Amino acid sequence: MAGRSEGTDGGEFQSPALERLVRSLSRLPGLGRKSATRLALYLVVDENPAEDLVDAISCAREQVRHCSRCGAITEQDPCRICTSASRDPKLLCIVSSPVDILPFEKAGFFNGRYFVLGGLLSPLDGIRAGDLPFDRMVELIQQDEVAEVIIALDSSVEGETTALYVQRLLQTSDLQLTRLATGIPVGGALAYTDEVTLQRAFQFRRAF
Ligand SMILES: [Zn+2]
Repeated sequence: MAGRSEGTDGGEFQSPALERLVRSLSRLPGLGRKSATRLALYLVVDENPAEDLVDAISCAREQVRHCSRCGAITEQDPCRICTSASRDPKLLCIVSSPVDILPFEKAGFFNGRYFVLGGLLSPLDGIRAGDLPFDRMVELIQQDEVAEVIIALDSSVEGETTALYVQRLLQTSDLQLTRLATGIPVGGALAYTDEVTLQRAFQFRRAF
């Protein structure tokens, strides 16, 4: 709650500019007003290499993009994974977010490619099939003549809904549809699953 510090006099710092920075920072994920204030002071008032941070942010914003094929975060498009000759294009792993690729790549056991949906179906939040790139997913599967699609989505209600939708879309295709074995915590984000659990869940993946 910003309370009285939202006032026109710039709040407790008597600085509308600093107030603006605090408000802007507090909109970042995981930052409340208190941490945002501390961070704002650190960035502006304290002597610190803030220029370097500003430069790093602007550089990352300039360089970082989504791979137009798979949706991974990359600086080159198509990404390193999509263009690698040692990757098997017949294996496609469906994930919801680009960060879900990281535990797979860290563990290093998967040599197929990925497709990032960029979200999960959630009618309650107004995220419907038309909002996610299912058309592009199907196109890619046909283009690469994918033999196995591995569904690696969270085991939340939204993850299940999305998995069922993918299953329905691919029903008539001549491919194997599998999903990670249980072991991923219910409702837990895939990105936070440890490598051993992930590898086991992959090894014991089952037909869907
Ligand atoms: Zn890619």
